[in-house]
Amino acid sequence: MPGSVYAIPRHERLSWWERVYLPEILRGLWITSVHLLKNIVRIDRRITIEYPDVQPTFPVGYRAEHRLMWRPDDTPRCTACMLCATACPADCIEIVAEDVGDNRVEKRPRIFTINELRCVFCGLCVEACPCDAIRMDTGKFENSAYTRQEFLYDITKLMHNHPEGASPYSIALY
Ligand code: SF4
Ligand code: SF4
Repeated sequence: MPGSVYAIPRHERLSWWERVYLPEILRGLWITSVHLLKNIVRIDRRITIEYPDVQPTFPVGYRAEHRLMWRPDDTPRCTACMLCATACPADCIEIVAEDVGDNRVEKRPRIFTINELRCVFCGLCVEACPCDAIRMDTGKFENSAYTRQEFLYDITKLMHNHPEGASPYSIALY
C-alpha cells in the first residue's frame, strides 16, 4: 500500500531476475562450489582444524588449567599469603594455611582448592602471586567430568597438574 509504514523501500525491492529465484540459487551454488574447491586445493589456507585429531596451537600467555609450583625440596612454593584468593573475582580459591616450622617460609597451604567451574580464567591469581607459586600455563583446556566434585582441584591435583615435559620447580629463589 503506497505510503504505508509496511511498504518495502524501493532499493530493497527484488528485481524481476531475483524474483525468478532459479538464477540466484545457481549463483549461490556457484559461490559455494568455488569456496569448496579453493579449500580442497589450498588445504594450508583452511582456518578450521580437525580437532581432536589435530590439537590447536595456543598463543603465548594462553590461560589454561592451574598448577602449583614446587620448591627445590618438593614442597609447595606457595606461602599461603592469600593474595591470589583476595584478587580472585570469582571467589573460587580456598586456602587454609598451616605453620611450616621454617622461619624462611613460615606458612604453607594445608588446603588449597580451586573450583574450576567457577573460575573465569582471568589470570588475576597468577598476576597477584608474588612468588611464582601458581601458573596457568598447562595448556589443558579439555576439562570434562561426570560430577561437579571432580572440578574442585585440591592441592594434590594442582601440585601434579604440570604439562608433559615441563619442570614442576619454580624459578624463584627459596
Ligand atoms: S583465573 Fe581468575 S577466576 Fe580463576 S582462580 Fe584465578 S583469579 Fe580466580
Ligand atoms: S599461590 Fe601465590 S598468591 Fe596465592 S597464596 Fe600462594 S603464594 Fe600467595
